[in-house]
Amino acid sequence: MTVFLSVVVPVYNERENLPLLHQALQQALASCRRRWEIILVDDGSSDGSAEVLEQLAADDPAHVRVVFLRRNFGQTAAIAAGIDHAQGEVVVLMDADLQNDPADIPLLLAKLEEGYDVVSGWRKNRQDPLLTRVLPSHLANVLISWVTGVHLHDYGCTLKAYRREVLRDFRLYGEMHRFIPAYAASVGARIAEVVVRHHPRKFGRSKYGLTRTLKVVLDLFTVKFLLSFFYKPIYLFGGLGLMLIIPSSLLLVFLIVRRIFWQVALFTSPLFQLSLMFIILGFQSILMGLIAELLVRTYHEAQGKPTYTVRRVLNLPEGE
Ligand code: UDP
Ligand code: MG
Repeated sequence: MTVFLSVVVPVYNERENLPLLHQALQQALASCRRRWEIILVDDGSSDGSAEVLEQLAADDPAHVRVVFLRRNFGQTAAIAAGIDHAQGEVVVLMDADLQNDPADIPLLLAKLEEGYDVVSGWRKNRQDPLLTRVLPSHLANVLISWVTGVHLHDYGCTLKAYRREVLRDFRLYGEMHRFIPAYAASVGARIAEVVVRHHPRKFGRSKYGLTRTLKVVLDLFTVKFLLSFFYKPIYLFGGLGLMLIIPSSLLLVFLIVRRIFWQVALFTSPLFQLSLMFIILGFQSILMGLIAELLVRTYHEAQGKPTYTVRRVLNLPEGE
C-alpha cells in the first residue's frame, strides 16, 4: 500500500515533547484509513532527544521514521531533509513542540480534498509573547502578502499541508520554509487557509527571538526577485538601466543645447557629471542583466528544468 500522508517534524532539543507529540499524532490519525508516517528529523539535538527518537522508532516501526542530521542545520534545512525522505502523496509540516495541534491535521486534509494543493494553518489565537513574536510576525505577514501577492494571514505557522508535487521542484534555504506557499502559488498551486489551534509551549524553549524577523525580511528580497524575475532577470536589471539612461540622456541633450545656444558651461556643470554617471550606471545594470540571463539559461538548460509546470495531461503518459 502506498503511503498517503507524511507528517514531517523538525526536532531540536524537544526531549519532553516527543512522546506527547507521538501520542497526539497517533490519536489524531487513528481514524485515517490510509497509510501514514511521521518523519522526525533530529536537527543535531544535544538534550537527549536522539535517544527518545530511537525509542519511539523501536516502539512504533509502522509509523515512525527518523532522520538524524549530523549537526544543527536549522529548522528549514531539517524540514527539507524530512521532505526528501517523505513518501506520502500529502506532506504535512508541523513543529515538535506541541504548539501546533495534531488534531488539526484532519481539518487540513479535508480542505486539501476539496481540490487545493496547499492548505495553510492560521494561528488566529496565537500563544506567544506579543512584543517579540506576535507583532513582528504580523508585520512580516502583511509585508510578505503585499510583496508576493499571495494573501495569507500566517506565513510563519509551520502547520501546513502540501501535495507532494508542489514540494518537489524547489530547494529551501535560510528561513525560507515560510515562503513555500508563495513559491507554490508561482508554479500554479491552489492555496487555501484554515484556522488552527495554537498552544503555549509547555516544555523546552523557543529557539527564536526578534532577529528572525530581520532574516525573514532579507529572505523576502530573494524570494521576490526569484518569483518575479527568475525567468527574465533582464527585465529587472534592464528596466533599471533604462530608467537611469533615458532621463540622463535627456538631461545631457538639454545641457548640450544649453551650451550651444545660451553658452552655459557644460563640462564644469555638476549636472553634466551626474548625467554621465547615471548613463554609465545604466549600461552597467543592463550588462549585469545579460549576465544574469546567461546564468538563468545555464540553470534551466543544464538541469533540464522546464520553464512551466503541468497540472495534468489527458491521453499522455504522466511526465516526471
Ligand atoms: N527547530 C529545529 N532546528 C532549529 C530550531 C528549531 O529543528 O535550529 C525546530 C524546533 O524543534 C521546533 C520547530 O523547529 O520543532 C520550531 O521551533 P520553535 O518552537 O523554537 O519556534 P517558534 O514556535 O518559537 O517559532
Ligand atoms: Mg514553537
